[in-house]
Amino acid sequence: MNERDSENIAALFVNAGHSLSDTEASADVIVLNTCSVREAAEQKALGKAGHLCARKGADGFPIVGITGCMAQNLGAEILRRVPEVDFILGTRKSADIVSHVEAVAKRRAEGQRAAKVKRRSKRYPVDTSHADIDISDDEFSHNAVKHHLDISGRVCAYVSIMQGCAMNCSYCIVPQVRGPERSRPIEDIVDEVKLLAERGVKEVTLLGQVVNAYGRGSIPYENGVSPFVRLLRRINDVEGISRIRFVSPHPSYFRQDLINAYGELEKLCEYVHLPLQSGSDRILKAMNRPYRADKFMRIADSLRAVKPNMSISTDIIVGYPGETDEDFEMTKSLFERAGFDMAYIFKYSPRPGTKSAQLADDVAEEVKESRNQALLELLAKQSQAYNDRFVGKTVEVLVEDAAKRGEALKGFTREHRKVVLTGGKVGFCNVHIERATVTTLEGRAV
Ligand code: SAH
Ligand code: SF4
Repeated sequence: MNERDSENIAALFVNAGHSLSDTEASADVIVLNTCSVREAAEQKALGKAGHLCARKGADGFPIVGITGCMAQNLGAEILRRVPEVDFILGTRKSADIVSHVEAVAKRRAEGQRAAKVKRRSKRYPVDTSHADIDISDDEFSHNAVKHHLDISGRVCAYVSIMQGCAMNCSYCIVPQVRGPERSRPIEDIVDEVKLLAERGVKEVTLLGQVVNAYGRGSIPYENGVSPFVRLLRRINDVEGISRIRFVSPHPSYFRQDLINAYGELEKLCEYVHLPLQSGSDRILKAMNRPYRADKFMRIADSLRAVKPNMSISTDIIVGYPGETDEDFEMTKSLFERAGFDMAYIFKYSPRPGTKSAQLADDVAEEVKESRNQALLELLAKQSQAYNDRFVGKTVEVLVEDAAKRGEALKGFTREHRKVVLTGGKVGFCNVHIERATVTTLEGRAV
């Protein structure tokens, strides 16, 4: 999602007549688009902002701005850690970014800079006089994330179909920083996908925090079909688009019409990223995730009944407050039964303002780490087994670009398995798979 938002920001600058710089060192303006989902992400962003500001010249350039979730979460408090930050824009304010930068540039031309005060303690009000800060809401901001860079040779693109989150998972800072859930109109999204197709894009990934709840409360069902599946059908009809993915759906909204869509829509890829978080019903309940382990398994089984080679990936949190060995064993067992081929495993990190931050973070760091390792080992085994099934077969790969400069090309199968190939070109290629590792299939274009 941040990758998509960052591209939107870059496109806004380009549309306003500015150009993108290849390196940080040659940029006049640097925008750090940040994440808050875990404490470590914020610390990393603050460190980076500090380094960038330390490089400012006497004229105050480069201008350094912070956008995204950390900007929303910390606002002016960022200036206590990094006083020379020039602007801070919240998650629903990026559409205005160019005018903010122009305003800051004008102030710098007039010689206005941050006072040379380092890290003001909380006893003093933070000095914001030099900075431009706006973290207010904008009820139409969800419609603003629609600009793309016109990148020649690009075959895959993200499309943001909604903003915010209306769920209330106990551990999660997202609703607080991304605001209420709002969906874009179907027609606007379809127009955007058509434009991307005209530019050569073959694969679109639709983005939302609970992407399958798209349109709830604002777009009606049609003959029992949810707004999300209505949208998928419309995109399936867009000429030039060959693959559709989406991220992240929520198990609670994964209904029959969406499962059926896998059988009906030939462009919908045999891959789903379906966050589980925990395999223990007790922990799911504590997390305020309104589904249970057996419901999750029913979805996985139904998807595989429609598409036997369905690849399923997930998100897991280990070490949620009160998670016992028994709870973790349930997660491990479901992890095996669901046969995840890919997973993002996170060690629980308390986030200020969330419900679970009031609970003791009582699972020891070593225990979190060992649970993390146990799942990573399981994942490696399962991912290798899934990849081994491709060896000796010829598969359709959408080739994106070189794996590394001067090296073989890289692409993905419909099941979202990474393929490194010899021969071939950007676009669709049939590839004979010769070897499989945990993370990669290797083969040659035929
Ligand atoms: N909307 C998506 C998830 C967005 S956040 C969903 O509901 O599935 C991405 C992932 O970060 C989550 O799935 C969760 O696994 C992880 N995460 C969120 N808050 C966390 C926290 N406080 N500590 C550790 N991991 C967290
Ligand atoms: Fe966070 Fe839950 Fe919303 Fe996902 S659904 S963004 S985990 S609150």
